[in-house]
Amino acid sequence: METEQAWTHLGAGEGVERDLAGTLQSVFGFSGFRPHQEEVVRALLDGRDVFAVMPTGAGKSLCYQLPALLLPGVCLVISPLISLMKDQVDAAKAIGLKAAFLNSSQGAAEQREVAAALRAGELDLLYVSPERFAMDSFTALLGSVRLGFVAIDEAHCISEWGHDFRPDYLQLAQIVKLFPSCPIAAFTATATRRVARDIIGKLGLRSPYELRASFNRPNLFYQVLPKTDPDRQLLAFVRSRPGQQGIIYRMTRRSVEETAAVLCANGIRALPYHAGLEDKVRSAHQEAFNRDETDVVVATIAFGMGIDKSNVRYVVHGDLPKNIESYYQETGRAGRDGDPAHCLLLFGYGDAPRITYFIEQITDHTARRHAQNCLQDMVRFGSAHVCRRKQLLAYFNEQYPEENCGTCDVCAGDAEEVDATVEAQMLLSAMVRTGNRFGANHILDVVAGANTQKIRQFGHDQLKTYGVGSGKSKRYLQRVLQNLESQGFVQRSGDRYPVLGVTRRSGAVLGGEKRFRMIKPVETAAVWESRSGADEAAAPCHMPLFEALRVLRKQIAAQQGVPPFVVFSDRTLREMSASMPSNATEMQCVGGVGAHKMAQYGDAFLDAIRGFRQEHPALEPLVVEDYVVLPPKRSSRSGTVLETRALLEQGLGVEAIATQRGLTAETIMGHIEKLAADGCAVDIDSLVDTKKLEPIAAILREQERDDLKPVFEHFGGGVSYGQIRLARAWLRLRAAGAA
Ligand code: ADP
Ligand code: MG
Repeated sequence: METEQAWTHLGAGEGVERDLAGTLQSVFGFSGFRPHQEEVVRALLDGRDVFAVMPTGAGKSLCYQLPALLLPGVCLVISPLISLMKDQVDAAKAIGLKAAFLNSSQGAAEQREVAAALRAGELDLLYVSPERFAMDSFTALLGSVRLGFVAIDEAHCISEWGHDFRPDYLQLAQIVKLFPSCPIAAFTATATRRVARDIIGKLGLRSPYELRASFNRPNLFYQVLPKTDPDRQLLAFVRSRPGQQGIIYRMTRRSVEETAAVLCANGIRALPYHAGLEDKVRSAHQEAFNRDETDVVVATIAFGMGIDKSNVRYVVHGDLPKNIESYYQETGRAGRDGDPAHCLLLFGYGDAPRITYFIEQITDHTARRHAQNCLQDMVRFGSAHVCRRKQLLAYFNEQYPEENCGTCDVCAGDAEEVDATVEAQMLLSAMVRTGNRFGANHILDVVAGANTQKIRQFGHDQLKTYGVGSGKSKRYLQRVLQNLESQGFVQRSGDRYPVLGVTRRSGAVLGGEKRFRMIKPVETAAVWESRSGADEAAAPCHMPLFEALRVLRKQIAAQQGVPPFVVFSDRTLREMSASMPSNATEMQCVGGVGAHKMAQYGDAFLDAIRGFRQEHPALEPLVVEDYVVLPPKRSSRSGTVLETRALLEQGLGVEAIATQRGLTAETIMGHIEKLAADGCAVDIDSLVDTKKLEPIAAILREQERDDLKPVFEHFGGGVSYGQIRLARAWLRLRAAGAA
């Protein structure tokens, strides 16, 4: 009978013709269909199941709203976000559709009203969440009304292979069982072929009309930059786009908070968004963004489907996304209005190992392999000298037809390529000669000619490839190795202790018939290096003042018997010499001047600056475009550090804590270091051999820079980096009189 339903009003073909064009114009106000909309609408009018993959901004809503208007009965729309339902319904009502929603945000009376309207056949569209659909009372209610068809938005949420699996969506498999003659239309903006098959199978669609629109988003420009100092880079990027709104994605809640704080401290309207914020705060921030009341939202990937904004002009990833699918989906939120928009990825080689660490926690073997492969694709996207657009589309099994897309950094000629064939040959050959059964570190050690226990044990110092790369930096060799893997010349096998081996493709590189190229890697210093070293030369300041402050620092350091960097880092002095603070408040805006240091050294430095300004009355504080105000550090530590503290207080040692928490001892040491920096008492005796503390202090004191390597080398590996850092933290604490 319901099949009949779908046909009764379709009988007169001509009538429908007129209805389609006329309704599109008169109700929606659109002069024509966007690509593929019409075919989807027609399939639904024909009573068929539909599975449509159409990119964000393609106009999926219209694909079910128009048939909902034309077909008898109500169209049930399953939509994942309660927070968006009201807006969607308001928008539909605004053009005269009879729409309503049912969800837990409504009071009982309101829900009764909607149910009554539904029973009375007064609705074209009813929006509900998958949870609501799972309720027996609701399906009973549906059974009593005339159901035209069911539209499922964000249908990829039903697939575990998709990037946003939601267990609630699995309930939707009941639709075909409960309402066997009701057509189903599933929509998503993202699905590989595998995910598509999975969705169709899980929903039980019956030979659906399948549509796969092109994934190409011609108005998006894709760019990848090496990640050096993300907060500064992000600030510079945002500053270069005044008046535009955009999203910055970061991997952790903590980095979200920090980046948002840096932006705010520099006068940018920015708000954080992550799952750790209270619901109320989170939705307020989202609202502010949707209503253009803030320019930037800095978010974890928790920020997604709630973005109902078509004028997002840029999406920046401050960290590596875990796979191309998420990357495509997240960047897809830019430029839905069709105007040009920019997608920037800050690519740091250090991010992949961090993600791998989490992937290794996945217990299911197949899922773990899948996640690892996806990550490799992502690394390849950032590091191979191949059109970014081509790579993205290839991921969705789509071949981009043009030679040069013109709108990515590779095609625009902004990305520099290097030939690393020689290094690649060294690494591949080392793998072959050691039998393709060692991990990355060992292979690098062989090529670099390191003298390790393992190398001696296996006699690998006798190999022809031993030490052939000793003239190259180990970092660089490591980059080449990562690129070899991401480009498919090396494969990883074995689970807990992965080993690397050559692949069939590598023969050509080894034999010299094929060159191996990659995007030139830019080296990123570790944080504590960059904080006190490399990039400082770039920060402008008044040099004579800087020199004067360094002399003062040295005096104070000598008096207190501590290394100079313990007083203030070079970077802090540089910032002081640029902004020339004249009082305590201004002083504390300088990065590295917390309350504690202000109390200890603030006056001495303020006096020096005051004196200098009297001698040089013409000098103005420098306000350079690149000037960055670092916000005061948050005093509260992240949960993981606090957890370590709790266990320490219970009397557990580092090893025991590491085992219990499934973390490495070095990580726990890092936590303790942070706790020490916060002034928490640390039982140093149990962590570092106290006889070594004074020598460590002596070596640190000798140098201006905060360099741990000389200490490490002095003890010939007898003290780990974690212990050295801990000792440093403790020495600082002692210098500050707290230990
Ligand atoms: P999607 O859900 O696929 O991301 P939406 O349904 O939200 O896309 O539509 C994106 C924008 O395109 C909306 O502003 C919508 O009004 C507009 N739109 C949809 N169809 C058409 C059309 N045929 N002509 C003009 N604009 C359209
Ligand atoms: Mg949509």
